[in-house]
Amino acid sequence: MTLSPPSLKVELTAPDISAYRQSNVGIDYVTRLDSGKPGPHVIVQALTHGNELSGAITLDYLFKQNFQPTSGVVSFIFANVAAYAMWDPQNPDGNRYVEEDFNRVWSDEVLNGPRDSVELRRARELVAYIDTADYLLDLHSMSAPSAPLMVCGVRPQGGQKSVNLSAKIGLPEWLMMDTGHANGLRMIERAAFGDPHKHNTAILLEAGQHWEKACEQIARETTLKFLKVTGVADAQWVDARCSLPPVEQKVVQVTEGYAAKSLDFEWLDVYNGLEVIEQAGKALAEDAGHTLRTPYDNAVLVMPTRSKRFAVGNTMVRFGRIESLT
Ligand SMILES: [Zn+2]
Repeated sequence: MTLSPPSLKVELTAPDISAYRQSNVGIDYVTRLDSGKPGPHVIVQALTHGNELSGAITLDYLFKQNFQPTSGVVSFIFANVAAYAMWDPQNPDGNRYVEEDFNRVWSDEVLNGPRDSVELRRARELVAYIDTADYLLDLHSMSAPSAPLMVCGVRPQGGQKSVNLSAKIGLPEWLMMDTGHANGLRMIERAAFGDPHKHNTAILLEAGQHWEKACEQIARETTLKFLKVTGVADAQWVDARCSLPPVEQKVVQVTEGYAAKSLDFEWLDVYNGLEVIEQAGKALAEDAGHTLRTPYDNAVLVMPTRSKRFAVGNTMVRFGRIESLT
């Protein structure tokens, strides 16, 4: 039986970002705002994935609000602009990337290796600049209408730094530590970000479903508070622009993921993410004769893939356990 989830409407409008192409550091779509005072280098990146609009909307908002850092340096980056240029609201799943996932190419081995793609060329342009960040916020969204969550990386490789930074921000409610991606290193895990002995800290916000209206405010306010707690934005300026109520944050420790064995992978029910399934062994999906089941009691389903654009080997869901924040 095919179970069709309710269709997901595109409620957001993709902003025109052409005005931000002109760069003051010689890399298209990178803008460096220098306060002239000492302080950290703080980067906010949007459009790691071309169809995740709320990050682009957030940076467009900050530009239009004429944001200026009060100390240190803030850089705004629109990352996979080639994929974003292909945005079509009639086919909103069609432009996550051009040739390959931009967020799986960040190991030095891949960046310095012989492979070539649209995404690798852009990553090679950006990597030295990214590596100068003391703090990085990478803005994303999800294919299923899950509650927002912060991806904090792998605990022994910098994940705890990311949880600590997210706790200062106070948003969103769910902080996720995971096991990385077998098919390539993410930007938030590379170099100093993935080294627990360095202060450099990166976090990745999944603001909600890609095209839902609520995503916009989550992305905007998380970014504003990130700029405040990293010490580069005026606290009053930020607070005047935030209205989301405080939340009690919790950590989900992902223990394992499930990769599609076939293109026939099919959910047996509608899962949006962050459901807690009481019983181990509950059948969740069918995949070429294999039944995917919950691995243990009270497993949290993290980011089930709702997208129809997936390949064999793609992560379709992760399982996790709830831990306390401290
Ligand atoms: Zn993404």
